Amino acid sequence: MTVALSKRVQKVKPSPTLAVTARAAKLKAEGKDIIGLGAGEPDFDTPAPIAEAGIEAIRKGLTRYTAVDGTNELKDAIIAKFRRDNELSYERSQIIVSSGAKQTCFNICAALLDPGDECIIPAPYWVSYPDMVLLADGTPVSVYAGPEQGYKITPAQLAAAITPRTKLMFVNSPSNPTGAAYTRVELQALGEVLERHPNIVIASDEIYEHIYWAAEPFASFAQANPQLYDRTVTINGCSKVYAMTGWRIGYCGASKALVAAMGTIQGQSTSNPSSISQRAATVALNGDQSCVAQMNTAFRERHDFVVAGLNSLPGVSCEQGAGTFYAFANVEGAMRALGIRDDNAFAEYLLVEAGVAVVPGSGFGAPGHMRLSFACGMQTLEDALQRIRRALAGGVVAKRA
Ligand code: PMP
Ligand code: GLU
Repeated sequence: MTVALSKRVQKVKPSPTLAVTARAAKLKAEGKDIIGLGAGEPDFDTPAPIAEAGIEAIRKGLTRYTAVDGTNELKDAIIAKFRRDNELSYERSQIIVSSGAKQTCFNICAALLDPGDECIIPAPYWVSYPDMVLLADGTPVSVYAGPEQGYKITPAQLAAAITPRTKLMFVNSPSNPTGAAYTRVELQALGEVLERHPNIVIASDEIYEHIYWAAEPFASFAQANPQLYDRTVTINGCSKVYAMTGWRIGYCGASKALVAAMGTIQGQSTSNPSSISQRAATVALNGDQSCVAQMNTAFRERHDFVVAGLNSLPGVSCEQGAGTFYAFANVEGAMRALGIRDDNAFAEYLLVEAGVAVVPGSGFGAPGHMRLSFACGMQTLEDALQRIRRALAGGVVAKRA
C-alpha cells in the first residue's frame, strides 16, 4: 500500500545531525571502528544530585500528568534562573516548559506562522530551524554570515532581509554550529533594526549560554534590548548545561499571549513534559551550580585543542569559538586537494576512510564546511584528528574493520 503523505511532511528532511549520529551508531554496531563526532550532546553523566532527584521523584510517586505547561515549582526555578543569569523578570504565566528546547522552537513556529509568513534565520544555523518553519507552513529566509564576519550577521544584512511578511527571527548565540556569540553591543545593533519592525517576534535560543568562554559576559537578547522584551522569546533548557539531553526539558519566557498559544498547541499534541524530568530540572536549576563551571572548563580545553588541531590540517581552517561544544571548519581547500565535489561527499570520505563521523556544513546552510562535536574525551579527539590528518594525506588510515 502506498501511503499518501502530506505535502507538509514532504517539504522537510530528517535532521542531518541525528542522521549522522544514527549512521555512526549503525556502523559501530556492525563492528566498524568509528569515532562519532556528529552528535551534539555532552559526554558527561547528568550530575548525581540531579539524577537522584529523578529517582526520588519516581519513588515519591511524581509519576502522573502535571499541568501542560509545567509544574509551578519548576516554573519558579526558571523564573529565578532568568532573574539570576539574565536580569529578566517573568511571571508564571509567561513561562512554558516543553519536552526539550526543540519542542519549544517548534511550538513558537506553530503558534506564529501562517502560510507565506517569513522567518529570518541567520546562517550557519542549527539544522532544525528551517524545517520547523516549513512544518508550520512558513518560509525560511536564511541570511548568510561567513568566517570573514565571524559568522555573525550585520544590522545591514538583517535590514535587507526584512519584508512585510517577516514575522519571526531566530537568534542563536552562542551558535550551533559555529560557536560564535554576539556581544551585547552587536545584539543592540540588531535590536535597533528590529525596533523599526513591530510585527517581528525574536526567538532567542540561548541553550548554550553556560558553555561559553568569551571575555565579555554572556548577553541575553532581551537583556540587551529591554525595549524588545515584549516580543522576545527567551529560549533555554537543561540538555546542554546540565548534561540532561535524554531528560527532555526545554523552556522559554515570553509574552502571556504567546505562551498561552504554545500551551494550547502542547495541550493538543504532547501535553506536559515528563513529571520525573521536571522534578530533576527543578533541582538542577535551584541547586549548586558548580557542575556547570566544571563542564565548561573541560569544553573550553577541548575547544582550544580541536581548533588548533584543525587549523594545522592542510586545506582546513577553523575560527575560534566563544562557546558551545562544536568546531565548524572550512574544508574547501581539503576538498579541492582530494578532488571531492561537496561537503556531503567529504563527510562520507572521512567516515569511510578515517572512521570519523562529522556533520556536513550544508545541513547548517554553509556548504564547504564540516561540524565536529568536541563533547568527548581528549584522547578521542586526538585520535580523530590524527585519523583525519592521515585521510587528508591520502595515507593509510588507522581503521579496524
Ligand atoms: N537549540 C539548539 C541550538 C540546539 O543545538 C539544540 C540541541 N539539538 C536545541 C535547541 C534543542 O535541544 P533540546 O531539545 O535537547 O533541549
Ligand atoms: N543539538 C544537537 C546537535 O545539533 C542534537 C541533535 C539535534 O537535535 O539536532 O547535534
